[in-house]
Amino acid sequence: MTRRESVTEGAAESADCGAGWAGIRAIVCDVDGTLTAGTIAINDCGQETKEFCVRDGLAVSLWRESGGRLGVVTGRQGLALRHRLEELGVDAVVQGSRDKVAALDTFCVRWRLTRGECAFVGDDLPDLAAMLASGLAVAVAGADPEVSKRAAYTTIARPGHGALREVIELALKAQGKWEAVISRFEHGSPPPAATRREVNL
Ligand SMILES: [Mg+2]
Repeated sequence: MTRRESVTEGAAESADCGAGWAGIRAIVCDVDGTLTAGTIAINDCGQETKEFCVRDGLAVSLWRESGGRLGVVTGRQGLALRHRLEELGVDAVVQGSRDKVAALDTFCVRWRLTRGECAFVGDDLPDLAAMLASGLAVAVAGADPEVSKRAAYTTIARPGHGALREVIELALKAQGKWEAVISRFEHGSPPPAATRREVNL
């Protein structure tokens, strides 16, 4: 089975990660190079702007509607990220993190989950410890090679262009929830609204 074929058959790919995908209750992800393509634009006023993937955004809503948790941890800080996360209604975010394992543990305590029930999605060396501490280490396409080779799964989709959506889709398929999602869209139901807003820890 080629890699691209396995993504089409997400549940099959999940078997390669053991019970990983099916047991995931929370997804924690890095921002730069994971939720974004990894470039940072700074204007003349010194303000950062970031570009996010709309398809990732819908996937976050679907994941949270299914009962999953979504946490974000980044070593940087910025208003652009805060606005986007408020728009998505993610469960929690840690900005300015120097210790992503500690952030993962903070999320676990808050959500009453174990590390093993969390997937960690990242792209670079600062993510590695948290990825390996989590129940499912996921690297995005184009991640640092040292990160990719230690990950249980590397996405086909590029960061900032659907990588998080791919992760969420695989989890929902492994958990038997994907068909219900598709069925709802087939019948014209509106996409879920972001309802819970627990930004900042
Ligand atoms: Mg990164």
